[in-house]
Amino acid sequence: MSNPHQQIVRLQAQLRREQLRNQELTHELKQSRQQLEQQRAEFIAQINTQLEHLLDAAPTPEVNADPLVTTQAALETLKARMIRTISHEYRTPLTIISLAAKSLAQNTSRLNPQQRHQCFAQIQQATQYMIKMVNEVLWISQAEAGEIMPHLSKIPLGDFCNRTIKELERLNPQWHDRIQSDLPALATSIYNDPFLLQHILLHLLTNALKYSEPEQAVELYLTVERQTLQIWVRDHGLGIPEAERACIYDCFHRAENVGTRPGTGLGLAIVKKCVELLEGKIGFQSQLDQGTAFCVQLPLVKQSI
Ligand code: ADP
Repeated sequence: MSNPHQQIVRLQAQLRREQLRNQELTHELKQSRQQLEQQRAEFIAQINTQLEHLLDAAPTPEVNADPLVTTQAALETLKARMIRTISHEYRTPLTIISLAAKSLAQNTSRLNPQQRHQCFAQIQQATQYMIKMVNEVLWISQAEAGEIMPHLSKIPLGDFCNRTIKELERLNPQWHDRIQSDLPALATSIYNDPFLLQHILLHLLTNALKYSEPEQAVELYLTVERQTLQIWVRDHGLGIPEAERACIYDCFHRAENVGTRPGTGLGLAIVKKCVELLEGKIGFQSQLDQGTAFCVQLPLVKQSI
């Protein structure tokens, strides 16, 4: 058995060892943090380089000798696409409503409360889908007519994006946990239009999730530098066929590789309009069966926040 003096010496030696280990750990932690910071800076620099390239390479519309002929032809194509999309996209919810209503009317006494609830839920869901589509068409026509103006307010960026992601996941539980982002680090507040910004995020994220496989992650990155907000949404899904890239922002245009995935071809038209209203730029890079990355650059108004 050791005497108190020996015990104190042993404890002091142990304490010294712990202190040295602590110093080592602090050093390692500092190094890892520096590495992470460096990786993040490199990633942002990489994104910026690609972004410049991407925005410069945005497709420009073809120039035709006779503008009247172009306008006429474009209107005809738009009309045909609109009729096709609306009739196609309305047929499914209308059929659901009709079947559910018929079932409720004809089998009232035979349906149990759960079955009745299911019919009402189907009617509600289908109606909401149709209302959303009509609202989107209306919004675009109002925007085209110059009736929509940006309304700027202070936006805490990190919170705002997290809330948008949560809302998207609430409406589509099957997409839960697929969005990867480093938003908690984003403590910046900006002045912008929250409605337009939310539309941009929601439509770009929805597309990234919809046009990739359920097990594939979707990345969202935001940076604020030199009075510019950059939003970057990247997926590893279907990709956009080369032949379709020039008209991907046109109303009701859908690429031929979408298969049975639902959609109206209005989302990107809305995003483009929102970006225009905020005097920004949009571009994308895509590779078939490898994925797509959309990038938005928005100038920020200087305000004391
Ligand atoms: P939709 O309602 O069809 O998704 P959008 O206007 O949002 O309409 O997109 C137009 C078309 O652009 C889509 O139908 C799809 O063909 C293509 N697209 C948009 N985003 C992506 C993406 N992330 N990956 C692959 N294709 C995409």
